[in-house]
Amino acid sequence: MRRLVLLAAAFAIVGAASVAAASEPVDLEAVTRIRDQGFRHSQVEELAWRLSEAVGPRLTGSPQSAAAHEWARARFEEWGLRSWVESYDFGRSWALERCEVRMLAPYVQPLEALAEAWSTGTDGAVTGRVVRATLESEEDLETWTGKLAGAIVLLEGEREPEQIEAELFERYDDAELADLQRYEIPDERGDRWRGQMLKRYKFWQRLAAFYEAEGVLATIEPSSRDNGVVRLSGNSAKRDPAVPLGVPALVMATEHYNRLVRLLDKGIEPELEIDIAVQWFEATSGANTLAEIRGSELPGELVVLGAHLDSWHAGTGATDNGGSSAVVMEALRIIKASGLVPRRSIRAALWSGEEQGFLGSRDYVTRYLATRPEPTDPEQLALPAWARDTTWPLQPLPGHSSHSAYFNTDYGAGRIRGLYAQENAAVVPIFEAWLAPFADLGADHVTMQTAGGTDHLSFDRVGVPGFQFIQDDMDYSRTHHSDVDTFDHLSREDMMQSAVIAAAVIWHAANRDERLPRKPLPAKPEGDTSH
Ligand SMILES: [Zn+2]
Repeated sequence: MRRLVLLAAAFAIVGAASVAAASEPVDLEAVTRIRDQGFRHSQVEELAWRLSEAVGPRLTGSPQSAAAHEWARARFEEWGLRSWVESYDFGRSWALERCEVRMLAPYVQPLEALAEAWSTGTDGAVTGRVVRATLESEEDLETWTGKLAGAIVLLEGEREPEQIEAELFERYDDAELADLQRYEIPDERGDRWRGQMLKRYKFWQRLAAFYEAEGVLATIEPSSRDNGVVRLSGNSAKRDPAVPLGVPALVMATEHYNRLVRLLDKGIEPELEIDIAVQWFEATSGANTLAEIRGSELPGELVVLGAHLDSWHAGTGATDNGGSSAVVMEALRIIKASGLVPRRSIRAALWSGEEQGFLGSRDYVTRYLATRPEPTDPEQLALPAWARDTTWPLQPLPGHSSHSAYFNTDYGAGRIRGLYAQENAAVVPIFEAWLAPFADLGADHVTMQTAGGTDHLSFDRVGVPGFQFIQDDMDYSRTHHSDVDTFDHLSREDMMQSAVIAAAVIWHAANRDERLPRKPLPAKPEGDTSH
């Protein structure tokens, strides 16, 4: 019975889709012009190179991050677009100047390790014995009290490297694309994840104070990737000057880390020398670069295409998310250079602070789209914004109705394969119609599934349609947040393809008669007694 009902529902949606798809206008002349500009006159590779190698890593609040936003703004203006930078308070930012780790005993050899963002420095080279300690609970801390002075602490055991059997560069195959069409009924995983993160966050603060009090020299964790790739981020809570900085925190290549663990296990105590120099930038701003092509008939209505310009510090933020930032810039350049004038205004948004919890897009949303009351409970106020309970009511601002939709690209630098409809059934046939002329580029897939983990959620959470493109992973799962997140892992052809599709999608959104259909406005869940 259940199966029958599901089948009937599926047919109903397919039926509706084909009706709407047939009536959704598609501007094939514009598609041809966009393809010509994007495939014959592309600038996307040059843009991605500038951003990743000439500007470099772009941790929000750092001077390079500011340079990247200024560079993007100037480039938009060169193309004849109005462009400006908006700022918000970010807090303490950071940059890594030197990070050298050597083993001194049982033999001398440099080791491959990097300091996490917001790690403290060492004030010159320091040496210490290596100790392996599990520090995950109050009982653990009690066990180790008084035993770690001057030690370099390995926080985990041996991490078995994965045997790589999968292809190094992965594209969606037909079976995986079919799988994307299956809808999974939501459960409470999101709440559980938040609960776990909150517990970890509180314990982090406790640990930082413990390390300092015990005179720990530094901590080391293994990279979560193998084959020499050092993947790391940082404890962004430390951008608040009230949060303790703790001691130098390193992440080491798994193979080098495992060797230290095995030596200890066999009763040989390694000695390390560590030399970390960092730079601090107090009370910095996060920046969002915006650029606009003014609409001819409805200039007050907006369609926005965005990506986050910020990155972590180990590589140059090429796949996360310089390549996609270049795609956003190129998409607007394509429309402008093709001589296409949209009915609604088209805006590009290059966010910062995505890696610290969508800070840039959240600033944009509270500035233009909707606000929520500030929490009054001191316990809630003491938490970082991502960990706080949602407050009600949602108060829409004028931009809530004037923004038709937001499209985001942040799943690596692999080509676009379609769109997640974010559980908005009414947009499925519309997206299918727009993407149909791109079947020859493999980009005509639309799924009801929701995409998570990036800036479109800031819009979705306040009831303004926000979408993320389906993208081929390529080697993004290995590169992002790592020291190999570099220009070499970008594909010129993939970025060209993505820019063409993104340009066509925003063009059609800007030109349709109506704004895009919306989901019901988010409402306070029943049984939620918070204010
Ligand atoms: Zn990203």
